[in-house]
Amino acid sequence: MGSRPEIDEAALRQGALAILVEAGTFQECEHHPGSLIQGTCDLAAAFTLANAQLAKETFGPAKLETRVALMNAIKKAYRENLFFDRCERCHNPQP
Ligand SMILES: [Zn+2]
Repeated sequence: MGSRPEIDEAALRQGALAILVEAGTFQECEHHPGSLIQGTCDLAAAFTLANAQLAKETFGPAKLETRVALMNAIKKAYRENLFFDRCERCHNPQP
């Protein structure tokens, strides 16, 4: 905690996931919002879109640390969801 506003991790993660879906890198299950499955798996497309959103200051002032944090959030979300070729929640319904 400092005098400057910190980058909000949860907001970054949400932003990263939204970018991955909007870029087509992943697709969101139509039945389970937030459940991502493979799309094009094109990480470069997500970075391109992220840069465009940073330029528009979607994530606040275009500072280097915001950019690095967003790129890291995208890479992390990419690694976490890359292996799902189907929605686990559709195929493993909770009892
Ligand atoms: Zn599903």
